[in-house]
Amino acid sequence: MSESLLGLSRAALADRLEAWGYKAVHAKPVWQHAHRDGRSDMDAIPGLPAGLAARVQADIPVVWPTIARETRSSDGFTRKFLLTLADGRQVETVLMRYDGRVTTCVSTQAGCAMGCVFCATGQMGFARHLTTAEIVGQVLTVSKFRGAEVPKFRNIVLMGMGEPLHNYDAVMAAAEILADTAGFGLSPRRITLSTVGVAPGIRRLAAERRAISLAVSLHSATQEGRLALLPPAARAWPLDELMDACREYSAVLDRHIFFEWTLIAGENDQPADADALGRLLSTQRAHVNLIPLNPTDGYTGAPTAPKTARAFQDVLATYGIPSTVRQRRGIDIASGCGQLAAPLVTTR
Ligand code: SAH
Ligand code: SF4
Repeated sequence: MSESLLGLSRAALADRLEAWGYKAVHAKPVWQHAHRDGRSDMDAIPGLPAGLAARVQADIPVVWPTIARETRSSDGFTRKFLLTLADGRQVETVLMRYDGRVTTCVSTQAGCAMGCVFCATGQMGFARHLTTAEIVGQVLTVSKFRGAEVPKFRNIVLMGMGEPLHNYDAVMAAAEILADTAGFGLSPRRITLSTVGVAPGIRRLAAERRAISLAVSLHSATQEGRLALLPPAARAWPLDELMDACREYSAVLDRHIFFEWTLIAGENDQPADADALGRLLSTQRAHVNLIPLNPTDGYTGAPTAPKTARAFQDVLATYGIPSTVRQRRGIDIASGCGQLAAPLVTTR
């Protein structure tokens, strides 16, 4: 796949221009043309030296994902985009509104190798990692070009298709690009990365002092329970190791972690489960996000009723652990957590 300007930071573009024999000062207008204005026609930029626009177009062309389908939820806001990438692979990206804030849910892989039993992305298998340009391209495509409002409070959650810490370098490069104030200009804390529990990746976030927010998917407070729900991830990174990595992260960065818990009726939603979670998190700086199970074809469980979810929260509160039940959004268009999928076939 050819390289794209969408995958380059402003500094990397300046280096590239210098390597081509141009002044670094031309990097900003070229970069902003794509990353701020969402354009790909480099010859429309005034004042560039002869040949530069053509060189950019030849060597690092801006290729936007194309929107194969857009679906809108009856909730009045949630929109799901099926995007086609340059090689024909497809991924889904979701725009939604929670508490008046607009959040973009971004995919980091086509498919996912982690095979969590209740997740549609896991059920479809792994196709490939997304490039930095494809991650950035999703955000800019759904946020700017489709008439979507570009609101004041924007958030990005890396909670779409894929496991972001399995594609670490491309994801971090994208986060840096999206935080550049000359472009999309998102505060790093408004980018939340959700991981199935890749312990070495969590340690690396701490070592590199990454300013983005972290969410860790737990779903069970025991190793056996995690083996049943998230088999490959639990085998690779046992619960003890994961909890150690989380403590290290919070200590080094002085940050709390969001722990995600998909509430499945009768499976992990009883007071005893909440008790076990309260004990497990007693040595963590934690906020718990409870997500009533969303339906997927490959899993038969049912979501927890609101009353049971509240009882679960009450138990957590006795441990001093704050929690939120995620509002259900976009279930009618299969855009909820764990519902994103796309065919593994190439269309071209
Ligand atoms: N791979 C990352 C991020 C993408 S999944 C991760 O697993 O954390 C985003 C969240 O949706 C995770 O917490 C995941 O466990 C949850 N999820 C997956 N399938 C779900 C389902 N059917 N219903 C509710 N939440 C689900
Ligand atoms: Fe992958 Fe996350 Fe789905 Fe698990 S829940 S299969 S890690 S996308």
